Amino acid sequence: APARRLAAIAVALVLAVAGLTGCAPSSDSAGTIALLLPDAKTSRYETFDRPTFESRVAELGSYQVLYANADQDAAKQQQQAESALANGAGVLVLDPVDGKAAVSIVNAANSAGVPVISYDRLVAGGTLAYYVSFDNEKVGVLQATALVDALNAAGEPDPGILMVNGSPTDSNATSFSDGARSVIDRSDVRILAEYQTPDWSPDKAQAWVAGQISQYGDKIAGVYAANDGTASGAISAFKAAEVSPLPLVTGQDAELSAIQRIVAGEQYMTVYKAIRQQATLAAEIAVHLLKGETVTAPLEVDGVPATLLEPVAVTIDNIMQTVVADGFWTVADICTPN
Ligand code: BGC
Repeated sequence: APARRLAAIAVALVLAVAGLTGCAPSSDSAGTIALLLPDAKTSRYETFDRPTFESRVAELGSYQVLYANADQDAAKQQQQAESALANGAGVLVLDPVDGKAAVSIVNAANSAGVPVISYDRLVAGGTLAYYVSFDNEKVGVLQATALVDALNAAGEPDPGILMVNGSPTDSNATSFSDGARSVIDRSDVRILAEYQTPDWSPDKAQAWVAGQISQYGDKIAGVYAANDGTASGAISAFKAAEVSPLPLVTGQDAELSAIQRIVAGEQYMTVYKAIRQQATLAAEIAVHLLKGETVTAPLEVDGVPATLLEPVAVTIDNIMQTVVADGFWTVADICTPN
């Protein structure tokens, strides 16, 4: 028994050093799945993605989930993936910090016979078993359509906006801005300046917007912010500069703080993505792959079997019919100050 205890402590240490949490594989486990998420600053991952994934896997059998969050560090994610493989993961569910760098994770997994599900963000190569995401160009279309329509309704001729895009290493950020540009470029809205926010950092978005406020002042009628984190940075910059009224700001993720800002009239819109549905589907596919079963998909993206879920635009007018109706947030959540 002491030897077994020592071995268990050793395994726990290895996992802790790698930043992985979860139980070491035990003899009655039906197998191990690694969930590798990219970023701890954006609240969706620890609030919805991880708990939903873990509880769906637990419903499906006695599997172990090894969880790791890379904190926006691609090298750290590479190490976390290697540790997961060394600790017997039979499937990787990978949301890459850097879509190009993550090809080496996919190759390492595949040469160990381990299938990889690309989760939310698409890895830029390698052989992927599945891709579970949202229609990310549509996210950008919804954001820009809401912004352009509201600016037009405000009646200002040729309104100017700032574009605060996501991380340059995230292929989703490109899809969001491509979708948004397809709407903005056909409108009379002018882009005054554009930024790719490193690591999706709200602080960096805030600092950049602060600089643009000094340059463009009240010419800024709106901000295309790619997600709620960058939206919060932009809004903080306007508040710090005492800009009133606040320009119209978009977002994405339907974070609780963003819904509260919409209710308070500080943020114009967000995009609701049914993250629990996404995580549930990923868990189910991961278990199928672990059992060696074949999985079917409704479509292919870059040759990868894929499911893309539908995003929904949320403004003050439809909070009840979207995030509340879906049980994502309750009225009590929204009305309780953070
Ligand atoms: C996700 C967004 C998220 C962003 C920052 C994107 O890839 O689709 O939901 O806000 O990354 O983590």
